[in-house]
Amino acid sequence: MKKYNTLLYYCYSPIVNAEEFAADHLKFCKSLNLVGRIIVADEGLNGTISGTKEACEAYMKAVHADERFAKTEFKIDEVDEPSFIKMHCRYKTEIVHSGLRDSSIIDPNKQTGKHLEPTDFLSMKDDEDVVILDVRSNYEHKLGRFKNAITFDIDNFREFPNQIDALAQYKDKKILTYCTGGIKCEKASALLLHHGFENVYQLHGGIIKYGKEAGGKDFEGQCYVFDNRIAVDVNSVNPTVVSTCYNCGTKTQKMINCANPECNEHITQCDECGDALQGCCSEACTTHPRKRPYDGTGYYVKVPQQVLSH
Ligand SMILES: [Zn+2]
Ligand SMILES: [Zn+2]
Repeated sequence: MKKYNTLLYYCYSPIVNAEEFAADHLKFCKSLNLVGRIIVADEGLNGTISGTKEACEAYMKAVHADERFAKTEFKIDEVDEPSFIKMHCRYKTEIVHSGLRDSSIIDPNKQTGKHLEPTDFLSMKDDEDVVILDVRSNYEHKLGRFKNAITFDIDNFREFPNQIDALAQYKDKKILTYCTGGIKCEKASALLLHHGFENVYQLHGGIIKYGKEAGGKDFEGQCYVFDNRIAVDVNSVNPTVVSTCYNCGTKTQKMINCANPECNEHITQCDECGDALQGCCSEACTTHPRKRPYDGTGYYVKVPQQVLSH
């Protein structure tokens, strides 16, 4: 039995005085010794947090007890150690940054694509009239994606709205969107509806819930996550590796940051190239004066001792 849980969740629900709420919520999380990252905006909550099972249970109970967040669904993973080092809870203008702050254009609290449960997504996804659309960024879908999914070469979800014109040829199809945990799809699907797409569906709970409830079938590679785990397995039915080493092209799922702190490029790199380039993305980066020592992980977050010892 693993001692810790990591919770992934979001809730689109209007929050009055969201900045004040964020400050109070941070205190509450710290009182439970939780670690993680929560974004609070006027439109809702978005978080990944980690802590003991008991602390996570107390947190979920408290969130559900608040009627604004009663409908929040938590994706719960068991982990050997907390997935973060510190606790952050910050106010931002959006819980997922789309650059579309005008809620008269898209407002997931009002209109969004139809939610598909994982098993429904599984049974629909291969139909003739269906297009599967990955709304995540390039470094995420390079590591793993649904078979036959359309992907965009974008660095950030902010760039998604500019990609919609490229989908015009699919206007008469059913569009099935997916992302990590479902939060981006609420906005992406709303935006597609706004642009005149009529049959827009979204994978409820994202890849993470699909892995738990539909075995992750036909998800190729691993799912990128925004915590210290970097990636998780989701497919227990027909798993494959799709990502390749940035340097030599062999298949690998190992993600690193370039050891040159000014480059810090987030890439997949095999162990052999990692050794040869000392964790750098290129020969040029190996000569940077502040190049960080490579320990084989390609991971450079500082871990305070007190966190490791509990
Ligand atoms: Zn390589
Ligand atoms: Zn580099």
